[in-house]
Amino acid sequence: MCRHRCVTQDCVCLTGVLMDRPTLFTAKYLLPITAPPIEDGALLVSDGKIVAVGTRSVLAAEHAGAVRVDFGDAVLLPSMVNAHTHLELTCFPAWADACGASPDSGSFVDWILHLVRVRKQVEVEQLQTSLLTGMRDSLAAGVGAVGDILTSYDIASAYGGSRLRGRVFCELLGRDPQQVATRLSQLDGLIATPPTTELAWGVSPHAPYTLAETTALQISAYAAAHDLPMTMHLAETSEEVAFLERAEGPIAEMLYTVAGWEVTAADGGHRPVDWAQRTGCLPTGGLVVHGVHVNAEEVGLIARQGCSVALCPRSNSLFGETRAPLKQYHSSGVNLALGTDSRASSPSLSIWGELAFARQWFAGLLSPSEWLEIATLGGARALGLELMIGSLEVSKQADFQVVPVPEGASPADLEESLCAQGEAMSVQDVFLSGQSL
Ligand SMILES: [Zn+2]
Repeated sequence: MCRHRCVTQDCVCLTGVLMDRPTLFTAKYLLPITAPPIEDGALLVSDGKIVAVGTRSVLAAEHAGAVRVDFGDAVLLPSMVNAHTHLELTCFPAWADACGASPDSGSFVDWILHLVRVRKQVEVEQLQTSLLTGMRDSLAAGVGAVGDILTSYDIASAYGGSRLRGRVFCELLGRDPQQVATRLSQLDGLIATPPTTELAWGVSPHAPYTLAETTALQISAYAAAHDLPMTMHLAETSEEVAFLERAEGPIAEMLYTVAGWEVTAADGGHRPVDWAQRTGCLPTGGLVVHGVHVNAEEVGLIARQGCSVALCPRSNSLFGETRAPLKQYHSSGVNLALGTDSRASSPSLSIWGELAFARQWFAGLLSPSEWLEIATLGGARALGLELMIGSLEVSKQADFQVVPVPEGASPADLEESLCAQGEAMSVQDVFLSGQSL
């Protein structure tokens, strides 16, 4: 019997290529996300798509000719979506160790300066290896789709061959319009061809404090002209707020000094969300990353723009940040997703890890089923993939992961137990379009 416990004699799992006949995947539990958990659940897949969801007994009777793959004492649920990450920085901890570098303090700006120092020591080949490692680690952790940030355009070919879905957002920053124009011209050639058949391009103006209004407008105009979705780090830290509101604090005093940027009178008097909207960096359906320092009015604006928010609580906690206004986002109808951010500020690329931390960080504010939806369908919506993945529903792609039933879990507390697994979650397998990876 193969590792998927195929019941039929004609198993083709061993080749890793499933299947030219309809296949019935069964497990002790199935979590569709958009419907309650199903005990003794089954998923019928044909040509990579889901054609039926139900119980094992009913679907097995209705589709007796299907190849059968039984995962036994396991949970079958959609693959995770990491809505904000920087896969090219996956090897950052090893790079920092190798050059013996550590941040001067726990502050956000010291962390940025540390990141820049280490990054300067890294060669292109190391970045490629890092990106490949990030894609492999993501799949191993049950992640099937990413919203990835790319700063090193010359390693884009490293995405080739990956089965990950999602978007690669090309990052831009800087306050000199000429330099940003040069950088945008580099994008022209890059975006002519998608990174892979499953990945599409997007654009990421980095953050309000690393741009000027003029350069932010340049980038948003480029994204609009090329119909590219946008994402931005926004309202992440108190240092960002101090800079935008009063043009002061560590960003003005340290970061701008190191970067050789001039602080001008135009830098003060703003709020992050208003600044982003005025510069076109909060477009309809855009993706806000962090969104920690926002008031009720700004939550309302994000909701009216139809933007999603990618929460990265482990990264926020590293800088001693307060919590994003989760309840206000949720009650305002803002779509929420989870992101690990990079390995420069987060311990792993596991959304199971981010999910377990978020449950504690935002203690009691949302239910386990709401968190599981955020980690899967919420991420899919944030990347514009909600009609294709994120839940186990008929006509969607058969993208799912297989995990063990948590020890001692009952049907009543299954979702709670899953959310608590964190880094300990041992993902047994990931299927994309019905094919085992
Ligand atoms: Zn980030």
